[in-house]
Amino acid sequence: MHSVAAYRKSLAAAACASMTVDLGAIVRNYRKLCALAEGSEVMATVKADAYGLGVEQVAPALVKAGCTTFFVALVAEGAALRRALDENSLSADIYVLNGFQPGSETAFQMASLRPVLNSLPQIADWRSVGAPQPCALHVDTGMNRLGVSPADMSQLTPSSFEDLDLRLVMSHLACGDDPANGKNEEQRNLFETLSKPFHGIPKSLCNSAGVLLGKPFHFDAVRPGVALYGGAPSMSKSVEFEPVVTLSSKILQVRQIDKDQTVGYGATHRAGTPARIATLGIGYADGYRWGLGGKARGFLGETGVPVVGRISMDLTTVDVSHVPEEVAQPGASVTLLNQQITVNDAAALAQTIPYEILTGLSPRLERHYRGVEENGAAPAGGAS
Ligand SMILES: *Cc1c(COP(=O)(O)O)cnc(C)c1O
Repeated sequence: MHSVAAYRKSLAAAACASMTVDLGAIVRNYRKLCALAEGSEVMATVKADAYGLGVEQVAPALVKAGCTTFFVALVAEGAALRRALDENSLSADIYVLNGFQPGSETAFQMASLRPVLNSLPQIADWRSVGAPQPCALHVDTGMNRLGVSPADMSQLTPSSFEDLDLRLVMSHLACGDDPANGKNEEQRNLFETLSKPFHGIPKSLCNSAGVLLGKPFHFDAVRPGVALYGGAPSMSKSVEFEPVVTLSSKILQVRQIDKDQTVGYGATHRAGTPARIATLGIGYADGYRWGLGGKARGFLGETGVPVVGRISMDLTTVDVSHVPEEVAQPGASVTLLNQQITVNDAAALAQTIPYEILTGLSPRLERHYRGVEENGAAPAGGAS
């Protein structure tokens, strides 16, 4: 007979790769956004499980830091968020960006979710189920993805919403990450025009990148996502956000190879000199992307260890020739993402965006959270 605790401990000992999320850093990034958007409310976008970092842990930390409104993409995400808040005896408003699908009113009602209404039919559908919850209106100002088009907006007036509980009018920027792009100002002007008739209803235009465009873009509320999680929102690197994720993996095996031997699939890495190769228990199925093969590096202690050869599904090989033999041993931990190698660096190397690195971090990784007291109390994020 083994206890549950002993079983858990043995599973943890067997884990090969883990990620640590610094909730304190998320809270500090939130406060930085509050300072940048001073005078506007900072809501938080936590779709896709808080960009892969765990909405159950992230959202309560943000509520305790003063955030009262969240955005998710899906009803199921909203329901999971509501559960996490309820379990912590916390409350917040939750908007569902993908809007209202006919038949889903019970789920909206049970989890007290607010639809972001994106089209005339969605508005009609929400009205026809008795509009049980407050809602938001998304007007399209040039993204051409979701939102009521400017042409359709001409059919709407504030009185079209008299029987609905409209709480927010929002739009979304296409090029917020490129401050020099003239489309930002175009969208801002169109948003101002289209939202103007809705007196007294809060307005929101900005994601993370939009926050960096300055006060004229902020309106009443901003709704950043990626910046909270340490992603670089903008091409202009004027403002940096604190890295949040540490990713590390254990060495499973170390081998000595001769000059001209190759490593891994496709034999893409050929040793120029005799070398020591360590095999790590992490691969692209964990979210350590295939595109990082031969490009990224990790850290074993203070020493950089280049990733050599292709990334496999469950394994990654690094050259540890420059690390003392007694250090590069099975069981030693190699760090693959941290303050020195950020999600932004990894995204650049893998030719993708930090969003995809973050949301790709797999549920298979063992997860740890920092910045919360042992008893689950407030995050140690510094005073506001
Ligand atoms: C995802 C999303 C956001 C947050 O975007 P970031 O670039 O992560 O800050 C805000 N608004 C809408 C409509 C979104 O889809």
